[in-house]
Amino acid sequence: MEESATIAMAQKARDLKSKGVDVISLSLGEPDFKTPDHIQQAAKEAIDSQKYFGYPPVPGYADFKEAIARKFREENNIECSPANIVVSTGAKQSIANIMMSMLDPGDEVIVLSPYWVSYADVIKVAEGVPVYVKGGIEDNFKASAKQIEEAFTDKTKMMIYSSPCNPTGEVFTKEEIEAIVEVVERHENVYVVSDEIYEHINFTDAHVSIGAYPSIKDRVITVNGVAKAFAMTGWRIGYMCAPVEIAKACSKIQGQFTSAANGIAQRAALVAITSDLGPTKAMANEYLERRQMVYDLLSEIPGLRTVMPSGAFYFFPQVSSFFGKSYDKWTINTAGDLCMYLLEGVNVSLVTGEAFGEPECVRLSYAASREDLKEAISRIADALAKLQ
Ligand code: PMP
Repeated sequence: MEESATIAMAQKARDLKSKGVDVISLSLGEPDFKTPDHIQQAAKEAIDSQKYFGYPPVPGYADFKEAIARKFREENNIECSPANIVVSTGAKQSIANIMMSMLDPGDEVIVLSPYWVSYADVIKVAEGVPVYVKGGIEDNFKASAKQIEEAFTDKTKMMIYSSPCNPTGEVFTKEEIEAIVEVVERHENVYVVSDEIYEHINFTDAHVSIGAYPSIKDRVITVNGVAKAFAMTGWRIGYMCAPVEIAKACSKIQGQFTSAANGIAQRAALVAITSDLGPTKAMANEYLERRQMVYDLLSEIPGLRTVMPSGAFYFFPQVSSFFGKSYDKWTINTAGDLCMYLLEGVNVSLVTGEAFGEPECVRLSYAASREDLKEAISRIADALAKLQ
């Protein structure tokens, strides 16, 4: 199992920072906003009530599961009840629960690539085999339904993707989702895990949940959480909507691993998902403006190929034109070498695309202040210009 590349890069940046180096970290997928006040308040009230100090029910508090089921029905058109819901310690644990409870050794999981860094390793820990289906930069990094179908074998147990996507920021359109639905309809033993954690950071304004399609809804597991939409990464609350038998299996595993997700954080997350989405929309609006700014700045850098993303808060520029070049003690043969050069040379941390299945790209998170983004991109431009 590999260490998470995003976490490793963030740690390197923190180490340099602690030595007094002025590092700008654009490596972690973490909103730079504070959790909105009313959510903080809900946590304080939960503590003061003294009602939530004991072990919560393993799959989550009943009223929170009720609210999540309502959210899925009303916002995502996914038919479900609280029996389908499991609350976990972050969407990351939801995904781990799914893989641990569903995969038998040798089961294949189609992973649409570029993919979020943890899918592959969690699948491997569960003794499954990731099968990558890659969307190239010319297709905005989106694999086609035809490519997906060609990758299916009689060992395929499930497919997994995120839309909006980490690391590319791409969003599947309704037509693209419907083409995938048709493929899944033809393979009746295959499940779909749809990771929708960036649902509210979608600049196309059309989030489509594959779990809303009746023909396959009994084989879809939808994962979501409060980390990105409500700037709550550290509160560690994620959740899933799954067929009842899978929800039960995930709950069983969770009962052995962690007992349940943090009780106070669940109370805060309940308020997050049932309140007005005003603060979430304001954050998404700020990301939208930064996206334009970053796009304009990156587009001016010779040698970078940059696609305008449709959601999340990442750019995934192609950097392969710098391979084979050098400056001073640095020689760039891979995207990882380039990230190390940028970190050591100009103190900007990005993440190599290798970690996401695309060795020609790097990921830049624009969940950072405009000032930091401008300064970081100017440093990147200077550093890249020196490579010969
Ligand atoms: N899925 C994707 C696509 C993500 O980017 C992340 C966080 N980086 C997660 C899941 C995990 O979310 P959480 O913080 O809720 O565990």
